[in-house]
Amino acid sequence: MLKGSFPVDRLLGRKTPFYFYDLPLLDRTLDVVRQQLEGHPSWQVHYAVKANAHPEILRRIAAAGYGADCVSGGEVERAVRAGFPPESIVYAGVGKSDDEIRLAMKHGIGRFNVESVAELEVIEEIAGSEGRVVPVSLRVNPDIGAHTHANITTGLAENKFGIHHSMLEEALREAVELPHIRFCGLHFHIGSQILDMSDFVALCNRINVLTDQLERHRLPVGDLNVGGGLGINYEHPNHLPVADFKSYFETFARHLHVRPGQAVHFELGRSLVAPCGTLMTRVLYVKQGLTRQFAIVDASMTELIRPALYHAYHRIENLTSDEPEELYDVVGPVCESSDVFAKGVSLDACRRGDLLAIRSTGAYGESMASCYNSRPLPGSFLFE
Ligand SMILES: *Cc1c(COP(=O)(O)O)cnc(C)c1O
Repeated sequence: MLKGSFPVDRLLGRKTPFYFYDLPLLDRTLDVVRQQLEGHPSWQVHYAVKANAHPEILRRIAAAGYGADCVSGGEVERAVRAGFPPESIVYAGVGKSDDEIRLAMKHGIGRFNVESVAELEVIEEIAGSEGRVVPVSLRVNPDIGAHTHANITTGLAENKFGIHHSMLEEALREAVELPHIRFCGLHFHIGSQILDMSDFVALCNRINVLTDQLERHRLPVGDLNVGGGLGINYEHPNHLPVADFKSYFETFARHLHVRPGQAVHFELGRSLVAPCGTLMTRVLYVKQGLTRQFAIVDASMTELIRPALYHAYHRIENLTSDEPEELYDVVGPVCESSDVFAKGVSLDACRRGDLLAIRSTGAYGESMASCYNSRPLPGSFLFE
């Protein structure tokens, strides 16, 4: 039996819940991005490791020639181990610890994306004590809103990320003076699951104004890192399994003013890996409530926290039933009222033991798993 694109017979004997990764789809996605980069030799894409740090997924993305975007020392370690060249690794984060800074220096990473003057000074001190000169970009808070969930916007003045654009010049003057800092460029990242290209146009406009201003004041700009954030279609994973990379890259090609020789970096996470992942779970019980019918499954917010954290929508399919559809609240076993994957969704009628597919969970799924309620971490099945 092959329902949708899933080899159901090979999945039935496996212990649930687990993540299913469609590696041919990942390869196809990486190929689409590679095609979009043709004709732009100074553009480089860094994969945002926090979206999914499964070793095989990292290995494949590294082998395809991408750089890595890390937000912790642990991610830098994993990226190096997976084969990303250290010089292709960029490292952001508002709270890098001294140990993490030392570790990233030891690996010789390509760029520290520095988020405050306080951090800049600590990096200067550590680099000085080790006799190194460290490549640094300044992360700018562009004060640009993204039309996405409030918990995943990062580019507003109220967010903790980056140096507010009005305070950039002062930070930059300090960066170029510090002897163990090599100032290399500007970094931006406005949020995640962005589908409205006008948000990226607004980012380009802000960058253009800012870089013109720096040049007028005879300050260096260096290269540009525009971050990530491209969204995917969670409603139609079967019809639209690849994000709209064409519109995304065309937006930057059209709106970003790039100086001759200036490199442009992108940091894509979700759009590369979300569609290839599916959380597989079994129905434990079907329960009639007073007003609703519950499908109680063996996966929970500990394997996939996005619905509880962001009210995120994931399409759910019953892979082992062809019975007429009924309405269900699909809920997990964890002792939290927010441990709900979907409310009032239509599924082929569920019985105990049915295998459900929670789609488009390759990003911020397994990587955000926890052991709350002393639950084990989920396993995975790599479909080649
Ligand atoms: C999370 C993150 C990204 C990736 O965001 P996506 O929405 O997954 O593309 C890129 N850059 C930085 C600095 C991040 O923190």
